[in-house]
Amino acid sequence: MLWRLLMTRFSIPRLLSLILPLSLPFPLPAQAQNPLAPKEQALAAGECQQGLELYKTRLNLEINPQTGQLQGTFSAELQNPYSKPITQSCLVLNAGLEIKSLSLPGLKQILKEPAQADTPVAYRLIANKPLAPGARQKLSLSYTGKIQGPPKFGRIQPEDVFLTAQSFFYPRFEKAWKRYCELDVQVTLPKGYLPVLSGALEPPRLNQGVYLAPLDTNCGFQSDHGFDLAAAPFQTHDQGAVRIYYRQNKSLSPAELQTLHQEFSATLEALNKQFGSHAATQFNLVENKREDLGGMAKVNTIFLSDKYFGKPATVAPNQYSYFKQVLKDESRVASEFDYYRRTVIAHEGAHLFVNYFFDYDKPWVAEGLPEFVSLGVLASQGNKTDLERKLAEYRRIWQQIPNRPLPALNQATLDTQIGSLSNYNGTPLALWNIWQARGDGFWPLWQSWLADHKKPLLYQSFKAHFQLSPSESAQFETGFDPTGL
Ligand SMILES: [Zn+2]
Repeated sequence: MLWRLLMTRFSIPRLLSLILPLSLPFPLPAQAQNPLAPKEQALAAGECQQGLELYKTRLNLEINPQTGQLQGTFSAELQNPYSKPITQSCLVLNAGLEIKSLSLPGLKQILKEPAQADTPVAYRLIANKPLAPGARQKLSLSYTGKIQGPPKFGRIQPEDVFLTAQSFFYPRFEKAWKRYCELDVQVTLPKGYLPVLSGALEPPRLNQGVYLAPLDTNCGFQSDHGFDLAAAPFQTHDQGAVRIYYRQNKSLSPAELQTLHQEFSATLEALNKQFGSHAATQFNLVENKREDLGGMAKVNTIFLSDKYFGKPATVAPNQYSYFKQVLKDESRVASEFDYYRRTVIAHEGAHLFVNYFFDYDKPWVAEGLPEFVSLGVLASQGNKTDLERKLAEYRRIWQQIPNRPLPALNQATLDTQIGSLSNYNGTPLALWNIWQARGDGFWPLWQSWLADHKKPLLYQSFKAHFQLSPSESAQFETGFDPTGL
């Protein structure tokens, strides 16, 4: 993600992950015998590297947000993807979850890794007889557990957006990284709560008290496409394709709601032009109770900090008094909040489209590209002031980065400060320079590049599509100095 992906620079993201990375597994041949009690035993490094392919996976999840209790079942058909028989594989379960029962035909033994703090727990499944290449076995298990506290799992704030899980399972198998797994998710929640799933192509459907949410999720560690749940009691404002969720105890004026609605709708419209139509027919803007967050985006939903819901002096006292100190003037403070709100919505909106249309596994795609896409959004709205301020910020920050790394080719992860600064600022600036050099010819080429969803969004395909000149490529390949631009 990767899902790191989902954050803006002010934000943090990784909201809680919930649940079970049931990483999966492994098969075992016939002759039933279970359940077996797991025996605790240290596993050697690398011992759990083998993976299986998963089919017909289903996750039932019952959540009690009040108590933080989880329970449910997981089932899948496991297939040996190798050309040789295999006799063991591993299952990885999130910390805090415990297997209550596990059934797998031919299972001889289950070894459990001793628990270590809040890291996922690996189980090694050992078969009586090897599983032949291509053969399948049915696994089912039930689990219970408690949602754990941040940072990994749990709720952010009482009554806040409440849990997310990334992948439920990790087939540790390189082939699986390149395709999607289907996961049939069924979530049971108390009334008044709403699950929001990332990776789902459509909003969850409520059926007799259970939310049904089939989703495609990447099968491996390399991607964070996964699954989220958000739950909290909200009031809603519906208008067109946009629904705004805001806290029950909050009073937002019609004008404030209208501003949020208008900015999100205009962003979506501009993004539809850049990328082509998103399949979702409804988009959500959800108040997220974190003054220190900007926003994050999942599927068809932007989670936006509550500092943008209401009067800044009241809803974001810390940031408000900081701005007040620096800017003095009340109206400048207000316009500061306006600027961040608009640009965060544009940035997070860009994530919705990038994530929907493409797999992404490179930092520049994770943050630099949405950042540039958001410049296009601001430009198409005629918002020159915000656009120029963004550019000035990129240049200022880019200039301060020592040995400016190459923006598009930078392999540094967003977890490093330099990697993050470089991607947030260097990439959009380099792309902006190409835009300026090409003038009106830029956008048709950009749109046709984005229209090919099969191509990875990598620098190489960008370079070929735009037929970058030597001086244009030099920006990405040998670096550039912001002062001369
Ligand atoms: Zn972002």
